[in-house]
Amino acid sequence: VKEEGKNNYKIYHGMLNKFSGQQLTFENELRHALDRNEFSLVYQPQWSVHENEVVGVEALLRWKHPKLGYISPADFIPLAEKLGLIISIGEWVLHEACRQNKEWQDAGLPPFRCSVNVSIAQLLHTQFTQTLTRVLKKTKLDPCYLELEITESIAIVKEDYILKILNNIKQMGMYIAIDDFGTGYSSLKYITQFPINRIKIDQSFIHDHTTVNQAIIKAIITMAHSMNLNVLAEGVETKEQLEFLASQGCNEIQGYYICHPLPHDQAGKLLQNFSPF
Ligand code: C2E
Ligand code: CA
Ligand code: CA
Ligand code: CA
Repeated sequence: VKEEGKNNYKIYHGMLNKFSGQQLTFENELRHALDRNEFSLVYQPQWSVHENEVVGVEALLRWKHPKLGYISPADFIPLAEKLGLIISIGEWVLHEACRQNKEWQDAGLPPFRCSVNVSIAQLLHTQFTQTLTRVLKKTKLDPCYLELEITESIAIVKEDYILKILNNIKQMGMYIAIDDFGTGYSSLKYITQFPINRIKIDQSFIHDHTTVNQAIIKAIITMAHSMNLNVLAEGVETKEQLEFLASQGCNEIQGYYICHPLPHDQAGKLLQNFSPF
């Protein structure tokens, strides 16, 4: 937690310098980004190793500032959380991802799920279930095509409340994935107690192809499968990584080796007839 705090602090101050050089404030610009239509989503395919097809896309947020250009979500999400802006930004993301997915389905693309990152602050917000209901109703997307990605830190706060919300989400017909698996602070307790469908192995385990990481990947897959959970490996960049994961029975992969995240128009075209190899 300390290390992460330090990193956020560094990022935050790096961003402050970037903005102050332009006589702008980071906070103020972020507060207006939604009204000014500066956000967009990019989509990265999730590939089924055994079915050899796209089974989903992850929606990733992009902020294009008119003067500073693209700013990474890793740099502004922490501030958006701190300022409470993540609630409105997060609702925009959910709505846009569902709307886009429905549009693809209506255009005749084979249906796939859309995975949306949900911050813990959104999940804990009292109106979250209502927001989901409203978004699904408005976009007319079947909830079985929406997956929420949450990070492992969920188990550290308000466990009973989180369990209730996750059960609501499941009852509404959506899916839940644990993001960045293996890097969180919590015990393994929540994957047995929470209604999870999928585990996303963090990319750090994939990138460093050490004996220890290979053992960890094997153990995660074995454990997940024994609990009937699906496993997706993130950050797959090479053929060797894909082959190792496939040999271990990993269900899905995501990463530059399959496809980079793409803007909606490019993603739509590509997904019509997608073949990465
Ligand atoms: P994440 O959810 O773990 O997303 C995966 C990140 O890895 C993305 O970075 C993606 O572009 C990048 N990536 C994908 N394939 C590869 C690969 O093969 N190699 C490498 N090195 N990287 C790869 P991105 O888009 O910069 O997002 C960073 C983080 O920001 C995300 O990490 C997520 O935690 C957060 N984020 C993004 N969009 C949203 C959002 O709408 N809401 C919230 N709350 N957080 C978001
Ligand atoms: Ca994610
Ligand atoms: Ca991740
Ligand atoms: Ca991450």
